[in-house]
Amino acid sequence: MIKNRFQYLAPTSVEEAANLLAASPGDTEVIGGGTWVVVEMTAGDRDPRRVIDLKNAGLRYIREEKGAVVIGARATYTDVVRSAAAAKLPALVAMAAGVTGGGQLRNRATLGGSACYGNPSSDVPGLLVGLGATLTVRSAGGTRSIAAADFFTGPLRTALQTGELLESMTIPVPAGMKQGYYKFKLAESSWPICTGTALVGADGSATVTIGAANCRPVTVTGSASDLDGLARAAEAAITSPFSDTLADGEYRKQIAGAIAKRAVKAAV
Ligand SMILES: Cc1cc2nc3c(=O)[nH]c(=O)nc-3n(C[C@H](O)[C@H](O)[C@H](O)COP(=O)(O)OP(=O)(O)OC[C@H]3O[C@@H](n4cnc5c(N)ncnc54)[C@H](O)[C@@H]3O)c2cc1C
Repeated sequence: MIKNRFQYLAPTSVEEAANLLAASPGDTEVIGGGTWVVVEMTAGDRDPRRVIDLKNAGLRYIREEKGAVVIGARATYTDVVRSAAAAKLPALVAMAAGVTGGGQLRNRATLGGSACYGNPSSDVPGLLVGLGATLTVRSAGGTRSIAAADFFTGPLRTALQTGELLESMTIPVPAGMKQGYYKFKLAESSWPICTGTALVGADGSATVTIGAANCRPVTVTGSASDLDGLARAAEAAITSPFSDTLADGEYRKQIAGAIAKRAVKAAV
């Protein structure tokens, strides 16, 4: 049970949500699916005076636009798995289908919420960086775009500024490139320890983004025919290894190369 009283707001547009946030950003929490923030409020780790629930703000959509897939911040993992537009991005679908927590979690948790939480050991940050996503954030003053590679600034930190909320994520469909996603986790029910998102071109060029192993996702490039070279590059790129209760950072660094190889194999 949440012990403290707060004002609950459910705006009906993203503009209204941004204006409400601007009125009192310091003591307000934004709710996507609530699978993380409500848990923390219940535990007393967050004690907002106001809560802005985005459920009616029109941000639950996935559509194809000009060679890209645009995902509203409130789209859930299940929405991704069922979306015809998202099917253009098999790495994204594989990621969403593999999130643990069961159907209840995947039906409720949003990609936007995961991005804004910025937990390094999540699936979403590495995937968004690996597919070259751009995030659109909104404040009362309008919108601005941030490349995913610049959005995740460190453990539980993002480039979102006070008074801003995430509106959507735009992922270009990588024409002519094969995509792969590979996740290593301890058990079926656990969060990722290391993830790999791979893009492989017709000429064999490969780009692999390693997530969950470093404090920020890291990207390396090479050739799909030189998997050992890619693996060495991936391990060397882990310069700020991320540790949590699931795994030590040094362990994550040591397996990053193997994960890079498996992501490329998943793609090809
Ligand atoms: C049992 C369980 C298993 C899980 N397994 C995995 C897993 O395998 N892999 C994985 O990556 N994750 C996993 N997760 C984490 C899950 O992905 C996140 O809880 C979820 O994505 C957060 O989404 P949400 O919409 O519920 O966010 P919320 O709890 O609503 O919000 C999270 C944070 O983001 C902020 N926020 C939300 N939306 C916005 C917005 N549009 N603009 C600005 N700020 C916003 C909130 O204020 C809060 O700080 C698991 C969680 C649980 C409970």
